[in-house]
Amino acid sequence: MSKRFYLQWHITNQCGNRCRHCYQQGNYGGPEVTLERAALILEDFLSLCSRLKADSYLAITGGDPFRNSAFRSILTVASSSCFWVSILANPENVTEENLEWLEKLKIRFFQVSLDGLEKTHDSIRYPGSFKRTMEAIKRLSRTSIKPMVMSTVSSLNYREMPAVMREVYAAGAKRWSFARWTPVGIGDCGIKPDEYMCFLREISKIHKKFEAEGHDPVDKDPLTILINANECSDSSQMVAGGCGIGSSVLTLLPDDTVMACRRHPGSVLGKWTTENNFLYHFALNPKMDEFRQFEKIEGCGKCKFLKYCRGCRAAAYSATGNHFGRDPQCPLC
Ligand code: SF4
Ligand code: SF4
Repeated sequence: MSKRFYLQWHITNQCGNRCRHCYQQGNYGGPEVTLERAALILEDFLSLCSRLKADSYLAITGGDPFRNSAFRSILTVASSSCFWVSILANPENVTEENLEWLEKLKIRFFQVSLDGLEKTHDSIRYPGSFKRTMEAIKRLSRTSIKPMVMSTVSSLNYREMPAVMREVYAAGAKRWSFARWTPVGIGDCGIKPDEYMCFLREISKIHKKFEAEGHDPVDKDPLTILINANECSDSSQMVAGGCGIGSSVLTLLPDDTVMACRRHPGSVLGKWTTENNFLYHFALNPKMDEFRQFEKIEGCGKCKFLKYCRGCRAAAYSATGNHFGRDPQCPLC
């Protein structure tokens, strides 16, 4: 498989939703990415991917990216130059009119969020959001744009995830995945390590049926390696999977702040400029260099899963205030 490099690009903070677990913390204003700026950013991202000999995976999001007045133009440039482009946006945007131009641009993926069954999801977002999201998935599934669904899991909703998975696939979703909720202050998603392992096992077992039908495995959380240990086959590379920090991912915010991961508030690397570009932040920035000192991660140093896992550094940071702290859901560290 060819190497992939992901950029999660937030082109605006504006958003019509006010989700309870939003990591923008009430900041819905600030600068917007202009088309002129976007062209420079895209050129630099493609240059980094070329240097790394990696396919360019771009996820454009916000806030709600549709609220940026230059979104259409930015997407036009991105879709003609990047290997893979997805949109992470609110379901309210999945209108017939928008689908028409997104299909013309050959956009392949549109991701919406679903954080539980109707009552739970609506309590996190707004009344009626669940129905709207399911309708968006169905609408997308009738087009050439593949609907993807992301669930943020915590003690509030993780027991509902098997049902959520079944519902979104029945509605036509092509991919479902989840990530743990990482509070901005000190805390974690509230699931004990043994409960989390049971949850991962249950999800893996149920999901096998969907994988047999062609759906991608659900392996976004590094800890899934604990229940898929037979996949530990690579004996050469230092990093062969797991948390993407330091190996395959960057985030860019609308004010040019570069982060190693959007979920990890302690991972700010500095500002993107044409001098301090993506190559600088990824390869030369001393903070990123420090993040690659994986042996410093508490409890992971001697773990046989280190190169496949390293825990979720965002979850560890939220739980401990330390990037190198223990992953709060790992039963081994
Ligand atoms: S810190 Fe967690 S959310 Fe961020 S890249 Fe690593 S595993 Fe993914
Ligand atoms: S000890 Fe670290 S590397 Fe090993 S499974 Fe736990 S989080 Fe992953």
